[in-house]
Amino acid sequence: QAQGCRLVCGLRCCQRVFSWIPVLIITCVVLWSYYAYVFELCLFTLTNTLEKVAYLLVFHVCFVMFSWTYWKSIFTPPASPCKKFQLSYSDKQRYEMEERPDAQKQILVEIAKKLPIFSRAQSGAIRFCDRCQVLKPDRCHHCSVCETCVLKMDHHCPWVNNCVGFANYKFFLLFLSYSMLYCVFIAATVFQYFLKFWGDLPNGPAKFHVLFLMFVALMFFVSLMFLFGYHCWLVAKNRSTLEAFSAPVFINGPDRNGFNVSTRRNLQQVFGEDRRLWFIPVFTSQGNGHYFPLKNRSSESHNSLLANEDMWEESDDGSEEGSLGESLSFCHMHIYTSMHSL
Ligand SMILES: [Zn+2]
Ligand SMILES: [Zn+2]
Repeated sequence: QAQGCRLVCGLRCCQRVFSWIPVLIITCVVLWSYYAYVFELCLFTLTNTLEKVAYLLVFHVCFVMFSWTYWKSIFTPPASPCKKFQLSYSDKQRYEMEERPDAQKQILVEIAKKLPIFSRAQSGAIRFCDRCQVLKPDRCHHCSVCETCVLKMDHHCPWVNNCVGFANYKFFLLFLSYSMLYCVFIAATVFQYFLKFWGDLPNGPAKFHVLFLMFVALMFFVSLMFLFGYHCWLVAKNRSTLEAFSAPVFINGPDRNGFNVSTRRNLQQVFGEDRRLWFIPVFTSQGNGHYFPLKNRSSESHNSLLANEDMWEESDDGSEEGSLGESLSFCHMHIYTSMHSL
């Protein structure tokens, strides 16, 4: 048995190493493009000093923004549900002792009453993750690669070797935007030299690099354009990729527009209210990822918790067995009140 365990651990370790390969490929391509652009094109080929300085300056701004957003997308850990969504020791015992599935479901329903959970499984049951032993908050899904439940999970992206979700969705969108900008800038400035090299200039290393820069930049730009366009549509409609494939289910049934409040508010949920910070990879998304305002207030009204909105404002850490207000404030659910004051 110990041997089997070691084998599983070894496989998992291998998997973890291999999962970095796509990131390594992107990094190599980007480093090569840096060398080709800065050295082969700007320093070795360009003769006009003004042009050289201008190209290098703008290129480095694009390059830094691209690298920064890529870094943040890769290394921002996915956000998991907070402690309040985990089964307490006594609830867990009660749940495990119970053998009838219907009674188990009823236990979950009771616990969920204390939490701002509005979405349901296809069957209408409370969404529960057996592996993490948590009641899934709205829009939360279990990622089998990360082996954890991820708040507002969008998808697991191999190119950043990370889960794209509540914690890094803004960074991921900025990463897409800045990689497109990087490609467009390279393609636009390389174009005239591409034509020259294609025509009469002699063979040499610069020729090879410039021709390939153009091809690679265009290729990446076109593929990114589709992905970026799709995500713009998702943000405007306030859907995650997972929700676009299967609509979230509420008390009244599935509703693909369940979280779609209005285009402006949908945008603010991801990018925050301060427009100056929209294009900078710092976290400005609204809320805490456990609760999202619903389009239909009627689906909320069944939950008596929300009748008194003041409860959501308290922010001191409640004790484990604290009152309703304290238990909610544990998760700092400011978004609810802030969305109402708009
Ligand atoms: Zn899970
Ligand atoms: Zn994942």
